Amino acid sequence: MITREVAQSIPKVSLHCHLLGSVPAATAVELASRNGVRFPGDPGVDTVYNSAAYADLGDFLSLYDLIGASLHQREDYRRITYESLTLFGADHNVWYREIFVTPQPSPLPYRTALAGILDGMRDARTDTGIESRIVVAINREHTVTEALSLVEEVIEHRVDEVLGIGLDYQEVLGPPAPFAPAFALAEKAGLNRTAHSENGPPAHIEVLLDELHCARIDHGYHVVTDQRITRRCADQQVPFTCTPVSSDIGGYSGSGEGSHRRIQQMVDAGLRVCIDSDVPPMFGTDPSNDYRAVGNALGYDVAQLVTFTANAIESCWLDASDKDTLRARLASWTAGAASHHGTENNT
Ligand SMILES: [Zn+2]
Repeated sequence: MITREVAQSIPKVSLHCHLLGSVPAATAVELASRNGVRFPGDPGVDTVYNSAAYADLGDFLSLYDLIGASLHQREDYRRITYESLTLFGADHNVWYREIFVTPQPSPLPYRTALAGILDGMRDARTDTGIESRIVVAINREHTVTEALSLVEEVIEHRVDEVLGIGLDYQEVLGPPAPFAPAFALAEKAGLNRTAHSENGPPAHIEVLLDELHCARIDHGYHVVTDQRITRRCADQQVPFTCTPVSSDIGGYSGSGEGSHRRIQQMVDAGLRVCIDSDVPPMFGTDPSNDYRAVGNALGYDVAQLVTFTANAIESCWLDASDKDTLRARLASWTAGAASHHGTENNT
């Protein structure tokens, strides 16, 4: 049994957490009211994130867009970045995060949003030690032209903290292949690439690997419905950034009843699985809760949960020496945890 305390104590590396989806409810309500944005039904702090009320992924994304539309100043971005990295990061022993940033719903220019995010990353690091970088995510429900201009902006305002690009929003409304030119532009500029694939078909995973040249797949549970693609991804050790709780509630985990059986199939098939919390307050979760949920549903012990963190270290886009530092830190934590348990067993 993985308790909340144990789950919280396990070090984490976060590769699938969205900035706009990790705004605490009180902050979301405050920024919306200050900046003249109205949420449907005028919910309060207790009701704004009622995941049972999201009829589908589209319904959830409209609220997500309104949160983005509530960001009107550089300081708003600083604040939500800081709160995301502390309340849904360092507080859960997240050592490092590659933050998904979707700039489109905010009226602010990309460079102003970026400046605010960098402020928040710096402040969170000063106060808690959490390290972070940025992955700028394209909205696949918008046009390919818009995707190309976003990548051009990212290149124009290039900073070391932006490590790559992603592809977000509903896969059914934005199949991956048409975005190949935007991904090619990013690749040419030396940006890393990842993309969401939550509904499939599994063939889309091969489009992401072969046409968009993605290094990671976000979600991708449907991979296990195709044996050949599963084997290929296991052979190539393609990372999958899984988010158990949000995917289960959102109805694309392959079960929807908390069994997380596809994650088990992925682990058993030798795939490189990482665990994260996606849009934590919007689905009533947090990084510790996702580790706990998958651990308890699948009977995983602390060692297996630490393997998810080790997988995320191998899959992140830091350079080799920073990855070595994380590996060494995790090895030292594991040795410390083992000797702690050894002492307990001896007394
Ligand atoms: Zn996501």
